[in-house]
Amino acid sequence: RVKENGKNNFQFYTPDMNDAVTRKMQLEIGLRKGLERGEFNVCYQPQVDVTTGKVIGMEALIRWQHPELGNVSPADFIPIAEETGLIIPIGEWVLREACRQNKRWQDAGYTPLRMAVNISSRQFQQSNLVEVVRKALKESDLDPQYLELELTESIIQDSKYAISTMHQLKAMGIHLSIDDFGTGYSSLSYLKLFPIDSLKIDQSFTRNIHTNLKDAALVQTIISMAHNLDLKVIAEGVETKDQLDFLQLRKCNEAQGFFFSRPVSAEQLSDILQKQSSD
Ligand code: C2E
Ligand code: MG
Ligand code: MG
Ligand code: MG
Repeated sequence: RVKENGKNNFQFYTPDMNDAVTRKMQLEIGLRKGLERGEFNVCYQPQVDVTTGKVIGMEALIRWQHPELGNVSPADFIPIAEETGLIIPIGEWVLREACRQNKRWQDAGYTPLRMAVNISSRQFQQSNLVEVVRKALKESDLDPQYLELELTESIIQDSKYAISTMHQLKAMGIHLSIDDFGTGYSSLSYLKLFPIDSLKIDQSFTRNIHTNLKDAALVQTIISMAHNLDLKVIAEGVETKDQLDFLQLRKCNEAQGFFFSRPVSAEQLSDILQKQSSD
């Protein structure tokens, strides 16, 4: 890596870089073994209807417990999994696990909820993605309307292919959303081309709603734009009551964040659902 870094760029080699390279290699090797060794698990973060306060869905988020490194953040290992292609088997595992878990909750008698699963661009570009999704639904016997795939703006690179894949997924009845909306340096024109259902406002905007007038303006504008396009909006990273009030006033549909719950284990989410159903 270090040597590849540009033709005329002189690079100082520092112990820090050495650590970073070693860690990256360690993660890459670990990722290859992680699946077989059962080191991954999925946690779930509730998504709440802003008007009723009820949990109406959840996002599946992968967790990795490395034998030596302990908990490794997805922000650190997902990019490596993408680079190495390991995101394909890992992503498929998450998808199957999330579908199975959602069906389990339905079988337990809870009001059916929508399960959102992150799909990275590398996964989205794999030619058999539609088949992989179909298989996960079939195997879990989950109704496709209770599955949502979160895509990022980066999939737009190859828009012809992306649109066709999206249409196939839509035809199955699956929901599609754009994750981290507004952070991807992409043109807005895809919004009229892509058959999507909702936008997720990135947490970097939500965070500063009350301290930065520009972030407040952006959030408000994203909500109105989405509604004018007949899309739903969900705000990510909601941590305070004030942020929720702001979103409520501006008719944001859904919210997700530490204010409601951190990502939790399936067992802990069952408790949340249990409480809600006895309210
Ligand atoms: P994301 O899809 O945008 O997920 C939201 C992230 O924000 C999660 O971080 C979640 O724990 C965190 N979060 C939720 N509410 C709050 C809040 O109120 N405040 C703050 N500060 N953070 C909050 P996490 O789980 O570390 O995941 C990071 C990213 O890694 C995800 O961002 C997603 O891009 C990726 N990722 C996670 N799981 C998967 C997966 O199964 N497949 C793929 N392809 N990517 C995944
Ligand atoms: Mg997401
Ligand atoms: Mg996001
Ligand atoms: Mg993100």
